[in-house]
Amino acid sequence: MKDTPSKPRASRTRAVHAGTRRSQYGEVSEAMFLTQGFVYDSAEAAEARFLQAGREEFIYARYGNPTVAMFEDRIAALEGTEDAFATASGMAAVNGALMSMLKAGDHIVSARALFGSCLYIVDEILPRFGVEVTLIDGTDLAAWEAAIRPDTRACFFESLSNPTLEVVDIAGVADLAHGVGALVIVDNVFATPTFSRAVDLGADVVVYSTTKHVDGQGRCLGGVICGSQDFVRKTAEPFLKHTGGSMSPFNAWVMLKGLEHMDLRVRAQAETCAFLAAELSPHDKLTRVIHPHLDSHPQAALARAQMEQGGTVLSIDLKGGKDAAFRFLNALEVIIISNNLGDAKSIATHPATTTHQRLPDDQKAMLGITPGLIRLSCGLEDPRDLLDDILAALAHA
Ligand SMILES: *Cc1c(COP(=O)(O)O)cnc(C)c1O
Repeated sequence: MKDTPSKPRASRTRAVHAGTRRSQYGEVSEAMFLTQGFVYDSAEAAEARFLQAGREEFIYARYGNPTVAMFEDRIAALEGTEDAFATASGMAAVNGALMSMLKAGDHIVSARALFGSCLYIVDEILPRFGVEVTLIDGTDLAAWEAAIRPDTRACFFESLSNPTLEVVDIAGVADLAHGVGALVIVDNVFATPTFSRAVDLGADVVVYSTTKHVDGQGRCLGGVICGSQDFVRKTAEPFLKHTGGSMSPFNAWVMLKGLEHMDLRVRAQAETCAFLAAELSPHDKLTRVIHPHLDSHPQAALARAQMEQGGTVLSIDLKGGKDAAFRFLNALEVIIISNNLGDAKSIATHPATTTHQRLPDDQKAMLGITPGLIRLSCGLEDPRDLLDDILAALAHA
């Protein structure tokens, strides 16, 4: 695809072609520029590049690399943002997006239902550097309204929370935040880049762990910060390139190839997920089946408005608590016990004893992380095999 196609192309086309840079050899598959540095034609050229490097001029892989640039341009084209900066992991992206724009004395509002490491950043690290953080129930717009102040600099949340799949109203929060000039920073992993409408709904900065659906095969860590050119290049990039959070060219190459088929994978996984949620809903050994598009989800209408499909993860709550949950996990034959998500392989996780183990019991209870809760990340296996596996394991629970 030409850099400036004669008309706008659909997202599946952009996912295959956007950002491609070809070397003098005209390779079809994107080249992996596995180089830490770049050669200058002259001393004057080195001086000029250090003074002001263009987008196609590289200095050092921590600052930028052609394979990483291809990935950044491709995912920015998919997300609908002007630019993107690729990071070493999802956490480098979350940390970079927040730390790069904040200073001592600033105030931010954050949803409390966060991935453990995200909670560590907003609850432990930022306050240590003098940033005031107000943690709230992200599903409650009135709580956002009450917490946002004239001096609030940012609002941070996961649009779909882990593992209880609570939905935050992106447009509602954006209206309130923009009223005081605060940035809306969304960790959009569970919504996936495929189903994301975060930017249309008013998000200013969208962050992904590309370890999840973008790789999609559990191979590499990665992350990305998508936003305006101004935020990405003038705020996030200087912070990340000087503090060491950049993505490696090898990982960028894996992520680039992952983007080519992400749409197909994620749609198939989301279909399986919705199928399993519907089939499991009436099961008498479960107290809850949580899926954003199920009628039983308290925010189903919002979830449907905000996401074309309900994502690739569902959670189930077993009646017998931890013992039943462990019996269930140990009886699974196809689904593996692990903690990634968005992978081609279906994965079952017991949040209370793994990803959320360190949360105090009262906080687990507040977030709905009960002893019987199991998070299921739906992969690419035959959905009938997955259902059989789950039903057989439930019989053991
Ligand atoms: C996995 C995850 C992260 C962290 O990503 P890493 O690539 O593991 O650093 C952050 N937020 C959410 C919602 C995640 O699921």
